[in-house]
Amino acid sequence: MDFTCMGNGAGSSRSANGFKSSSSSVDWISREMLEMRLQDKMDHAEDRESDTSIVDGVRAEIGHAIRTTVGRSGQSRQAVSYIGEHVVGTGSFGVVFQAKCRETGEIVAIKKVLQDKRYKNRELQIMQMLDHPNVVALKTSFFSTDKEELYLNLVLEFVPETVHRIARNYNRMNQRMPLVYVKLYTYQICRALAYIHNCIGICHRDIKPQNLLLNPHTHQLKLCDFGSAKMLVKGEPNVSYICSRYYRAPELIFGATEYTTAIDIWSTGCVMAELLLGQVVLGTPTREEIKCMNPNYIEFKFPQIKPHPWHKVFQKRLPPEAVDLVCRFFQYSPNLRCTALEACIHPFFDELRDPDTRLPNGRPLPPLFNFKSQELSDIPPDVIKRLIPEHSRYQNLFMALHA
Ligand code: ADP
Repeated sequence: MDFTCMGNGAGSSRSANGFKSSSSSVDWISREMLEMRLQDKMDHAEDRESDTSIVDGVRAEIGHAIRTTVGRSGQSRQAVSYIGEHVVGTGSFGVVFQAKCRETGEIVAIKKVLQDKRYKNRELQIMQMLDHPNVVALKTSFFSTDKEELYLNLVLEFVPETVHRIARNYNRMNQRMPLVYVKLYTYQICRALAYIHNCIGICHRDIKPQNLLLNPHTHQLKLCDFGSAKMLVKGEPNVSYICSRYYRAPELIFGATEYTTAIDIWSTGCVMAELLLGQVVLGTPTREEIKCMNPNYIEFKFPQIKPHPWHKVFQKRLPPEAVDLVCRFFQYSPNLRCTALEACIHPFFDELRDPDTRLPNGRPLPPLFNFKSQELSDIPPDVIKRLIPEHSRYQNLFMALHA
């Protein structure tokens, strides 16, 4: 995607940053992570910003139109305006709000992040490279200013739900998520990871249910939040304080700086186990346990998460393929962990490859086998055969011939 965008809009003042304040203010962990992200940026001086067009006087806010011009290179530029509707997410680094395009009526999500003028935004650079059915699509981007601060606005396709919210709803109703959804979601995460790891060469570094967007009707999953993503270069160090609590690979906990994309695979295992069990397993450590690990953290206010007793973990009757796949994700040694592509062909997902499988409401499954040639290059024919079931193979061939 090669969009050229320039902001040129209007808006009037509202609160400090134009949004209602939110409960998820920057807590200690976010501050630490922010420092780490900045540090990570400093590690890459070549990321220095040099050619970004900055447009003054543009405020991206709720209830106000934001005018911007959009045009692919070589094509005429088009004026578009977005009207902010409401906040749909507050992360550690910005606000995401739902907006409507005045010209087309299209609903989008706009992620507004504070931009350090000295650097190129790595999230934007990475998102511009991505094009996959299981990765949230970047439509365009523009800069806006607010109280002398510069913000980058990423205009994304809007996806109404997250795996986090869907899983929480099941838990509140005291129900387990149907196994076919666990398969669908885990498979689509693996497919997205196989693409970003192998075709683009980046590691997401923050796989967690909040970053897995879901269309609740089709059950198509889209990976979002590339704010921590990075190309990991062999021999070059990376910060180990990355990835959210509960989903962090053991090598990160041990402070490794030369980790690999296998950290995303561990996180995927954590997500899958959480969906199968209905909750995180370990919960918040007690005061005494914290004291043993690092007494400096005793006074921190951790969210209180109830642990899931081990005997109950093993009591749940899980299909053997589910247990086998989780074990392949949870290898302490990163190079023994399965890759995303190996996971995709695991027997746990065979039900998804069965032409007769339907969603519990009788509808067809979302597209799972529409692989592009880029995704299939360098993959041995026997793996491709496992990956694409016969009933989809001719469709794929047809697509490839007409691409
Ligand atoms: P941060 O990097 O600040 O944590 P994220 O990109 O993770 O921000 O987004 C925070 C939340 O905003 C997500 O958990 C999700 O609830 C919502 N969100 C993000 N992108 C979209 C989108 N494209 N459509 C709908 N909601 C989104």
